[in-house]
Amino acid sequence: MAEIALIIGAGPAGLTAAFELLKRTKIVPIILEAEDYVGGISRTAQYKGNRIDIGGHRFFSKSDRVMEWWLDRMPMQQVEQGKSTINYQRKSRGIDTSAPGPDPNQCDRVMLLRARKSRIYFLRKFFDYPITLSGDTIKKLGLFRIAKIGFSYLRAVAFPVKPEKNLEQFFINRFGRELYRTFFKSYTEKVWGERCSSISAEWGAQRIKGLSILGTLKHIFRKIFKRGGDLAQKETETSLIEQFLYPKHGPGQMWEIVAEEIQRAGGQIVHHQRVSKIHVEGDRIAAVEAVDSRTGETTTYRGDWFFSTMPVKNLVASLDTKVPANVCEVSGGLIYRDFITVGLLLNEMKVREDSPQGQRFIRDNWIYIQEPDVQVGRLQVFNNWSPYMVADPTKTWVGLEYFCYETEALWKMTDRQLIELGTSEMEKIGIIERTAVLDATVIRMPKTYPAYFGTYDRFDEVRTYLDQFANLYLLGRNGMHRYNNQDHSMLTAMVAVDNIAAGLRDKANVWAVNTEQDYHESKESVESQKNA
Ligand SMILES: Cc1cc2nc3c(=O)[nH]c(=O)nc-3n(C[C@H](O)[C@H](O)[C@H](O)COP(=O)(O)OP(=O)(O)OC[C@H]3O[C@@H](n4cnc5c(N)ncnc54)[C@H](O)[C@@H]3O)c2cc1C
Repeated sequence: MAEIALIIGAGPAGLTAAFELLKRTKIVPIILEAEDYVGGISRTAQYKGNRIDIGGHRFFSKSDRVMEWWLDRMPMQQVEQGKSTINYQRKSRGIDTSAPGPDPNQCDRVMLLRARKSRIYFLRKFFDYPITLSGDTIKKLGLFRIAKIGFSYLRAVAFPVKPEKNLEQFFINRFGRELYRTFFKSYTEKVWGERCSSISAEWGAQRIKGLSILGTLKHIFRKIFKRGGDLAQKETETSLIEQFLYPKHGPGQMWEIVAEEIQRAGGQIVHHQRVSKIHVEGDRIAAVEAVDSRTGETTTYRGDWFFSTMPVKNLVASLDTKVPANVCEVSGGLIYRDFITVGLLLNEMKVREDSPQGQRFIRDNWIYIQEPDVQVGRLQVFNNWSPYMVADPTKTWVGLEYFCYETEALWKMTDRQLIELGTSEMEKIGIIERTAVLDATVIRMPKTYPAYFGTYDRFDEVRTYLDQFANLYLLGRNGMHRYNNQDHSMLTAMVAVDNIAAGLRDKANVWAVNTEQDYHESKESVESQKNA
């Protein structure tokens, strides 16, 4: 009889694990998924033909393995010869360049090549992101503020805070106090619901490492003098990435395709199965129990291998063995930030942007809302991710993003209250007129951000304990309590399957994904975005 792998969660990590097992081993994967969709946080939600991407998912990676895996599922659209990004397909994939890529107007299974644009909205004005020291920025900030920014930056260079323990100190050392207050403080505190001074500097090191005033200047010069380059953009700072791939119908389309391929190859995906108990026998996992969210019925699934992408906190709480007190304490103290998107369908936006031909629709994929007098943290403009995300392309389809805890009043608001809040906040800061709102919806997504505070600094105690279970692999974002983007979530699954296929028992290389130098978000890397 073939061995069975039970995979908890049909997000990118769980689906990649199943796909790779089918491709490279004789192990049969069964995915248990709590919800009725696939893709996890990277799904595409739908409302009357309008699609919502939760958080905005750019597809790009420094890892050729991931890039090729994506492009094997969904080819890149036809792009003009000479566009730098086509080189990626040519060189790395040996594709016949005389054969054009698919035309998104003719077929659905296609990756669009998109230009990144995101700006900061502050003082009811747009500022470029990454921040540029242009005449426009100086005009918008005013000479007095610019002088303050300059002096506080020089002060930070001359007298850096040492040791650099918290995120506030991390920002100040790189940007000076005034620039930090102007462009980073309010948005970051919205995301985390914590003062930057209470968040570990490690978060900054992992997410925005390498971004600094000097880095920004270097990037501008490189942009001026460099031609060409490839889509993996290996030389570019993460927060500065300028192009990315995007499935025609949003990130979930990729995962729906992968799910189909898994099922065609003999894997199973069982929906509405929330894993609630994990049976331990010695140093192995023997089975899991899952509750059907529709009927309440419990089913036991036995397996030989177990891959978990469910939140570590819930995993530890589900173990039916005596878990050491310190492990319970650390896992119980892990914190997750939750996420609400208010989708607004608009006749038009009030803000426009200048172009040589006059005022036009803004080009931003997303906008950081730094204004401290509203709770909304970020605005997605879905039309600019993919025009095919919008049922009627003459309308504007935006997502207002709120960050909160499930326990907070904001999370518990009714949809109507949230839509009212979103509409009034957008009107207050001058982005829309209330009368332009045609329709609206709300999506709540729990546990989107595993936090690097709470008991996180003792996370190794949980890891060491769980690693003792020889047939259990923790994968992905919440599965490893790590700020992994899709590519790293996938790589953890790929490396785990590599180990099993090679008969290796060590899991250190799975944990090393997204921590090794090669994966770091430093000068050479391209992992993630400002605060994704
Ligand atoms: C705001 C935001 C922006 C982002 N932007 C990007 C980006 O631009 N590019 C990028 O590549 N990545 C981005 N990401 C990261 C990306 O969303 C994640 O890396 C990816 O979805 C993680 O995959 P996963 O499989 O580990 O987890 P998830 O996507 O969380 O999937 C886990 C699955 O497990 C299921 N599950 C949980 N508990 C149980 C249980 N007990 N039983 C059964 N099933 C269970 C869930 O329902 C879910 O389907 C972003 C994330 C956020 C929050």
